[in-house]
Amino acid sequence: NGTFALGNKMEKICVAVRVRPPTPESSSSENGSSLWKVEDNRISLHKSLDTPISTASYAFDHVFDERSTNACVYELLTKDIIHAAVEGFNGTAFAYGQTSSGKTFTMTGSETDPGIIRRSVRDVFDRIQMISDREFLIRVSYMEIYNEEINDLLAVENQRLQIHEHLERGVFVAGLKEEIVSDAEQILKLLDSGEVNRHFGETNMNVHSSRSHTIFRMVIESRGKENSSTDAIRVSVLNLVDLAGSERIAKTGAGGVRLTEGKYINKSLMILGNVINKLSESSKLRAHIPYRDSKLTRILQPALGGNAKTCIICTIAPEEHHIEESKGTLQFASRAK
Ligand code: ADP
Ligand code: MG
Repeated sequence: NGTFALGNKMEKICVAVRVRPPTPESSSSENGSSLWKVEDNRISLHKSLDTPISTASYAFDHVFDERSTNACVYELLTKDIIHAAVEGFNGTAFAYGQTSSGKTFTMTGSETDPGIIRRSVRDVFDRIQMISDREFLIRVSYMEIYNEEINDLLAVENQRLQIHEHLERGVFVAGLKEEIVSDAEQILKLLDSGEVNRHFGETNMNVHSSRSHTIFRMVIESRGKENSSTDAIRVSVLNLVDLAGSERIAKTGAGGVRLTEGKYINKSLMILGNVINKLSESSKLRAHIPYRDSKLTRILQPALGGNAKTCIICTIAPEEHHIEESKGTLQFASRAK
């Protein structure tokens, strides 16, 4: 009886790109023809709009065009991660991209097309129903990292939490509220209340952009029932992460508090890129992975790399004035492969 690690093969990180549809405003001001061409798992700029330096087409595990739904993204990208998590494997799904590119739409979704988080939560409980020989205990937490400070989104009084490391527990956020939950509806209510506590800031990009990384975490613990053959305890951690906007500081014309936020965001996204890049390299080169360089990577470490299953959805805004940011996002995505 006891915990054990499942499997020992290195998992490849799955990298996808998703182009959001033009917004009603942008489709009337810009002639509506799409800037990006999506063919199967490749994305490229349309020839007429291409600049001399970039005729590249980028290939990824999946490329979702503007007509794609969250249902489709879930099915192709995250379902396997969720199912593996129920079996005892750690997993992480990220949305990366500039503000307004569709990260929150992908992770949280809309009333009619729920995002990855909601779909995952429902799927976890559906799967559990189907496994009759194990007992499950599900705990959830929801946190944000804002200016390298960890705040609890399920308990506003828990601010500036510290990361600790423990021989048995590993890396954990001290004082973070963990709610034991018994059904999907309970989690969805918690998420709604947590959403209210997120940090938002008005930037020159004229939207409420999120300036924090948010991590929704489910810890799935199970043990074999008395009369079953496998009684070992399995514990897996599932992180669903909506990253802060990846836009460079200059574009937002920021000063003061916005500038400070931008610096923290750029730095932590760069470190995330470095970690993911190292993980995607062959094991010989992977000697040192700089998890400790940011709170984000440190918190995610147990479920990032090793036998954890990971996917990254890089979201792109289709408008022409976002082209530089979109190229930057594709570069991030390419480094992650
Ligand atoms: P981000 O979180 O990256 O800042 P959002 O997810 O808030 O961006 O998306 C910006 C806007 O575009 C929102 O109004 C959102 O509803 C809409 N949107 C984003 N992606 C899609 C999509 N795939 N289909 C329909 N609307 C989308
Ligand atoms: Mg957002």
